[in-house]
Amino acid sequence: MTLAALGIDVGSTATKLVGVTAAGDIAWRRLAPTAPRIEAQAEALLAEARAQPGGERAPTVATGYGRKLVASATRALTEITCHARGVYRRTGRAGTLVDIGGQDSKVILIGAQGQVLHFVMNDKCAAGTGRFLEVTAGRLQLPVAEMGDMARAATAEVPISSTCTVFAESEIVSLLARGTPVEHVVRGLHRALVHRVTSLVRSLGPRPPYFLSGGVAHNAAVAAFLGEALGAPVERAEEPQLMGAYGAALSALEP
Ligand code: ADP
Repeated sequence: MTLAALGIDVGSTATKLVGVTAAGDIAWRRLAPTAPRIEAQAEALLAEARAQPGGERAPTVATGYGRKLVASATRALTEITCHARGVYRRTGRAGTLVDIGGQDSKVILIGAQGQVLHFVMNDKCAAGTGRFLEVTAGRLQLPVAEMGDMARAATAEVPISSTCTVFAESEIVSLLARGTPVEHVVRGLHRALVHRVTSLVRSLGPRPPYFLSGGVAHNAAVAAFLGEALGAPVERAEEPQLMGAYGAALSALEP
């Protein structure tokens, strides 16, 4: 398929690229851990995209925290705009989008035409982000991609009282030393993360339907627990981690 536009989302944790057709459908995608040399990595990944049919002429929009370092992009847009655009294209509905990435989380109110009405962001505290699960998964020697299923399957949970990722790590150590089953700890960790995200959602006012994007949306327990806390289901975007890059590519299609 011929690529008509490209989007690149240089995130704190992962760099995502999407190529879309003229109709706005995803025809090419790439995801790589963000490297310390952002400029060089972005250009190498874009070179790969531009080697695809149509890619050479495709306009490129950059987003993500490293967006200003993408030298060959036509334009740069915030992740707020891009995530909202990507998700709205998929859902076609107004609502509240929660984007949980590797180092920040955002809540975006999307209007009936897909416009961003309001947003709030947490980029100060790792405890409400994917980093919280990454750090605690490391401590528990578990793959982060398996944490969600374990949390959902657990039959009980222990409350995690620490409001900080670093203190939560020491809390885990003492819980394990007391013989608490790992699954109960994992479920408690998810509840703690969701508690923080729920406060962020509430700060904007509860306006369902709720959508979830960002890499952490791969985690089914986060979506389920967030739905319980908000009292309404949370729909996970398809290919949630690509929604920023997808929105960027859709924006690049516009003149
Ligand atoms: P950023 O844009 O900040 O780089 P992303 O939206 O790419 O963030 O999300 C990265 C986060 O998603 C990381 O914290 C990572 O652990 C988490 N993540 C990625 N894939 C999965 C998965 N399959 N299950 C659970 N978490 C995941």
